[in-house]
Amino acid sequence: MGMLDTHIPPLSGITMGMATRPPPPFTATHTPGATPPLSGVPVLPTALALTGWPPVDKIPEPNSPEVQAWMKELEGITIPDILPTKDSSCAADPEAAAEAEKRGWWTCGGYTRTTDIAACPDKLHWGVSFDDGPSPYSINLIAKLKEKNIRATFFVVGSRVIQRPGILIEEYMNGHEISVHTWSHTVRMDLRFCRFSIEQDDRVRAISLAMGMVPILWTSNADGGKFDSNDWRVASGELTGPQVFTIFEDLMRNGTSFNTGFITLQHDLFEITVDLAVGYTLDAALSHDPKFVLQPVGECMGMPAGAIYNETKKDTAAASVTASVPEVTQAGKAEDVDATKPPGTSAALAVVAPVWGFLSIVGLAMVGVLG
Ligand SMILES: [Zn+2]
Repeated sequence: MGMLDTHIPPLSGITMGMATRPPPPFTATHTPGATPPLSGVPVLPTALALTGWPPVDKIPEPNSPEVQAWMKELEGITIPDILPTKDSSCAADPEAAAEAEKRGWWTCGGYTRTTDIAACPDKLHWGVSFDDGPSPYSINLIAKLKEKNIRATFFVVGSRVIQRPGILIEEYMNGHEISVHTWSHTVRMDLRFCRFSIEQDDRVRAISLAMGMVPILWTSNADGGKFDSNDWRVASGELTGPQVFTIFEDLMRNGTSFNTGFITLQHDLFEITVDLAVGYTLDAALSHDPKFVLQPVGECMGMPAGAIYNETKKDTAAASVTASVPEVTQAGKAEDVDATKPPGTSAALAVVAPVWGFLSIVGLAMVGVLG
């Protein structure tokens, strides 16, 4: 477990090209069979094969055994006949954009369905999430979350988990929720190739639900995507640390005025985004008046911890999600768009990050099938 990072630059110094610091040393301290702090979730598995997986950040071959195994999960499922879009943006595909509502296209238009998780139901409840790890800097974030007694949901990229399984285990053993956020983080979607797209429409919904995974989206509102922290734009050089902190203050203002709670997007992939969270945004969230309740997404949804992983979900929370699957196959019904959730109009990049699934990956690994 890492120590709290005390060398974070001043906010104005957090920019693309800033001097990097070495990631903290990390030694795994958990052993197979260890019991996580959340009750009802699986204990740490006893074996994890780390060789033989498709390469990091690459879409696996469609004819590979792992992709063929996933395709089997879709047998007998009605999947809406929606073609993949050019690059998941409205602008690049005006024809698809014209039918965004019909497609239930969240990435372009912010359309959600009742089967999506797109906001915490209770006012001032904040579903805290971090995307795209694990990375070597995730350790700094885990230490900060521990110090502040915050638990979050980590939307992890499968091939990066295989690179850093110990960090994923550290997240899990610190009481955080783990969700699937694709194998390779490929934007251009083809569900035959990567278990999950980072686009979201009715086709992706149908496939994810068939695979036992519930789509989670960060909350968007009428003027568009305000619960994306935009931290990733500092890593890409588009924005500075102070600019993103201002966006974060807007985000909290929006969150305060919302009738429901909300889910935010932050990232633990880069040193920059971790520095923003560890040094600035998490403290701002904690000291906000009125007080927010910071929670992992499953918890803010009222789901028992045992109901969020395929290996242990047997109870009503999961069952109610499963029961609503057929709605999703009725592509194009405008009334399926959930009026009880905050309306959204735009979002740059979708997180399709089901709660359940992490341990499915591990389970598959244990029998030597690629996940
Ligand atoms: Zn992502």
